[in-house]
Amino acid sequence: MLKAAAARKIEEAFEHAGVRRTPQRFFVLEHLLTRPDHATVEELWTALNKRHARASRATVYNTLHALVQAGLIREFTLDGKAARYDANLEQHHHFVCDRCGAVEDVEWFDVPAAQGAGNVRTYEVILRGECSRCR
Ligand SMILES: [Zn+2]
Ligand SMILES: [Zn+2]
Repeated sequence: MLKAAAARKIEEAFEHAGVRRTPQRFFVLEHLLTRPDHATVEELWTALNKRHARASRATVYNTLHALVQAGLIREFTLDGKAARYDANLEQHHHFVCDRCGAVEDVEWFDVPAAQGAGNVRTYEVILRGECSRCR
């Protein structure tokens, strides 16, 4: 179960962003904050249904859309596959495990050469290999 302090942090995030708190939105944000596994819509839908049995996929899409719009989470894709969702809003890179597909955060480091490639607005490095569990 979620600790009271963590729950309060999520409440505050909704308040700050001016987003109405719904049980689904709370659940999704909580999931992404407490399990930084960069879940897909499918994974979130499965998890949500264990708690809120009648949530449709459309509910999950709408929930994610609202959270992205509010700037509480961000959406990104890897290899053009299903969108993944990240509650870590700090600038960071990702590590992808070739075996199990796990996606982990990697602390930000600058890539100096990126600055020479035109007017770079943003970039993100994807590191690949085997995660600590698969190694
Ligand atoms: Zn792995
Ligand atoms: Zn991330």
